[in-house]
Amino acid sequence: MIPYGKQTIEEADLEAVAGVLRSDWLTTGPKVAEFERAVAEFCGIEHAVAVSNGTAALHAAMAALGIGPGDEVVVPAITFVATANAVVYQGGTPVFADINPETLLVDPDSVESKISDRTKAIVAVDYAGQPCDYDELREIARRHNLPLVSDACHALGASYKGCPAGSLADISIFSFHPVKPLTTAEGGMVVTNNPELAGKVRTFRNHGITTDFRQREASGSWCYEMVSLGFNYRLPDLSCALGLSQLARLPSWIRRRNEIAAVYDRAFMETDGVRPLVSKPDRTHGYHLYVVTLQGDRNAAYTQLRDAGIGVNVHYMPVYLHPFYRDRGYPAGLCPAAEKVFSSILSLPVYPLMTDEQVGEVIGKVCATADRSGQVCFQ
Ligand SMILES: *Cc1c(COP(=O)(O)O)cnc(C)c1O
Repeated sequence: MIPYGKQTIEEADLEAVAGVLRSDWLTTGPKVAEFERAVAEFCGIEHAVAVSNGTAALHAAMAALGIGPGDEVVVPAITFVATANAVVYQGGTPVFADINPETLLVDPDSVESKISDRTKAIVAVDYAGQPCDYDELREIARRHNLPLVSDACHALGASYKGCPAGSLADISIFSFHPVKPLTTAEGGMVVTNNPELAGKVRTFRNHGITTDFRQREASGSWCYEMVSLGFNYRLPDLSCALGLSQLARLPSWIRRRNEIAAVYDRAFMETDGVRPLVSKPDRTHGYHLYVVTLQGDRNAAYTQLRDAGIGVNVHYMPVYLHPFYRDRGYPAGLCPAAEKVFSSILSLPVYPLMTDEQVGEVIGKVCATADRSGQVCFQ
């Protein structure tokens, strides 16, 4: 099976991790700050705080912004469930905004229409690795005096009008899960230019304690104070060493993802019933996902392609259609564009180590599926 996404692990990664295993620090050691510095520089931003995964990063961002019971946060209808769940962790209420069916990026007009007196933040999601319409979103956030959060889990290495993902909102978050642009196994990061928010995230990831063990060792004091309720959301040195080693190769991986996407785009231009999502010319796409919409029966195409060894997938069902959210009163029909496009989307394999032959095989099988089911599915 050709998977829809896959990590790239090379000799340098093995050496980086082995080096930490031979050192004195497995968890909060020197690699954490080094990785934070490297990601901050990569994104052109002041502060970066490493956490245990992307979901923890979202949770920490919501906590730092002071989201609590009674507060509403506008999130896109089509995203991974964690984007909305982080609001619920804090006792807040996610309010779902509709998406643009050509890009699956959140629709700024829909975002603005969902703002109420109880809204406390807006979350944008760089779906598939393409940065959102940040000029419009920042303007809406400014007009309503709301913080803008970027869930850039798909988009490390992407950019908008020359500005890197991570530098486009008041606070941005990344995931380093193996299918994401780079991996630390599990891992995440919160980045911001706001020192107060960064400080809150730093405390939140370490039980609400204001100093870490190495800082106490350095100052020769045993004393620590817990000032707020936090979690153990730390990212180990082992993972940070892997992340540092990966980050050096990220730009070449993004180039390869774009190369593959360009080959797909050309092939599907000539295939009836298969249409790639639109990528905007003013931004660099990260192609964490390569998504097409199908004219016919998506579920039939999914099964046929899986049976043919192509690990296609669906990203994502509108979040509020999951039983957890339905049970909390979110009705079907809430975001019509999201629901309509959801029934036709399919993610095709794309990852840096994918060979030209594999890309050709995917194209051949997708086109065969489209032809074969031309009468059955795609009419
Ligand atoms: C992967 C992902 C997350 C969660 O990241 P984890 O590291 O898996 O916790 C959140 N939001 C989006 C959009 C994601 O793709």
